[in-house]
Amino acid sequence: MNACNYLDETHYCPHCKEKLDCCSVPPVHVGDGLGWGTEAYFICLNDECPLFVNGWEHIELQFGHHASYRYMLLPGNTEGTPMMVGSKDAMKGCIMDPESIKLQDERYTNEKEAVTQLDTCVAEKNLGPILLLILDDAANRKHRERASDLLVEINDLSCVDPIRNHTFKNEVLGHKVNLDIQKLLKKNYKKECPDCSEIIKAQSKKCQHCGKEF
Ligand SMILES: [Zn+2]
Ligand SMILES: [Zn+2]
Repeated sequence: MNACNYLDETHYCPHCKEKLDCCSVPPVHVGDGLGWGTEAYFICLNDECPLFVNGWEHIELQFGHHASYRYMLLPGNTEGTPMMVGSKDAMKGCIMDPESIKLQDERYTNEKEAVTQLDTCVAEKNLGPILLLILDDAANRKHRERASDLLVEINDLSCVDPIRNHTFKNEVLGHKVNLDIQKLLKKNYKKECPDCSEIIKAQSKKCQHCGKEF
């Protein structure tokens, strides 16, 4: 598995039974040389948590300064430790959303896979990776251009509908894809009806879908 294993972990605070939040490790560690060896950790950020509520007094008495504890746990562990925090909001700025990170991770994996498939997809008549890259606005622009280049070669008109239903965030790329579709249609002696967008014969005088006459 990958380095983001922790995204599947769920932990609960033994002090308040609340679910722990997943936080990213701050780029500059509070305690230098702490060497957490992790990019994320779990922490109880419940302000009602007894460990946190009682920690202020405990630390005041013990160490004479204003701080408290939050329960924290490193990924892959079942037992955590109290971590000292100087304020109520400390650590709250780095809460991660494991679901969105998982989605990003998945998107990136799919992109990488599609890119490797580009070399063979024309021979295999596999439109999938070409469409995936063209329609993924977060994918690398060069990969998307390469995918668009293959549209004419793979010669599969079923690519037109999904592409026409996509709004390209990058106008330049959208323009290039449009030109490649025009080439593909021309190669097949087809055109798109300007009224209903159905693909029809290039020489038609009337659209057999909407009745529009040219
Ligand atoms: Zn707690
Ligand atoms: Zn029409």
